[in-house]
Formats: sequence, C-alpha cells, structure tokens
Amino acid sequence: MKQQAKEEYVQIDAGAWAPFPEAFSKGGITWKLLHVSPEAGTWSAYFTCPKGSSFNAHIHTGPGEYVLTKGRMDVRGGADAGGASAIAPGFGYESSGARHDMTHFLVDSEFYMTFSGPLAFINPDGSVIANIGWAEAQGAWEAFNEANKKKPSKKKAA
Ligand code: ZN
Repeated sequence: MKQQAKEEYVQIDAGAWAPFPEAFSKGGITWKLLHVSPEAGTWSAYFTCPKGSSFNAHIHTGPGEYVLTKGRMDVRGGADAGGASAIAPGFGYESSGARHDMTHFLVDSEFYMTFSGPLAFINPDGSVIANIGWAEAQGAWEAFNEANKKKPSKKKAA
C-alpha cells in the first residue's frame, strides 16, 4: 500500500538562496526549492529577481501557476508586445507548451511558481539545452546546500 505523502512547511525567509544557474538566466536571480512531488511530476520554487534580471528562453512542457508577490514580471515580451506584464500581487497561468523567449524583471521582483513537468531551456531554433524537472531541481538544490554546509562560516574565518 502506498502511504499518504507527508505534509511539509518551508520558512521562505530563512536559510540561504541558491544562485539560479547563469546558463539559464542573467542578472543574479536566486531561488529556493519549496517542494517536489515525484508522483505528480510537479515542483515548486520561490525566486528573487533583481532589477534588470531575466530568464533565458524556455518552454513549459507542462502547465504552471505563479503568484508574483513583489515587483513586476514581463512574460512573452510583456503586455506591450502581446504577452503579459504581471504586477504584484498577481497570479498567472502558463499553459503546457508555452514558449517564453524572455522573461524579464524591470524592478526588484519575487514570485512563487509550481511547475507541472520540466522546464525546457532552449536554443533560438527550439532545440533543448536542458530539461529541468523535479529531479533536476531537487538535485541542484541539494548540491547547493551540501556545498554551503562545507563552506567555513564567516565567523570562523574572521
Ligand atoms: Zn516561463
């Protein structure tokens, strides 16, 4: 028999923020993994996006939902270019197959998002550079936390 999944809680403003890989973003975006569900294939994360930062081109291989809690996020070029400009507090739904050639932040922003299935980072011709699903996100998050543990604390170094 399968067991019901355990409840979880994450204090978002506690603990270190992982840099989002520069291969997939620009401008110093950081993130925190909140939850993964291998059974559902979903993963949830919180992102902090400094003014001027952006995510590289990607395709949502499954649908996703987000809540922008701070700032402004321009998706698919923003409202002026036929996309969406989310202004906090704002909610957005991205359909399965949504292609975002650039998601950018004109002011310091933060958002929560749950992804169903992997995020596929792509080249301009649409070929896939990397698929980031729950397993990859969890692997990256655990690697960051392991590396962070091994770092001597600033107090000891002083
Ligand atoms: Zn997107």
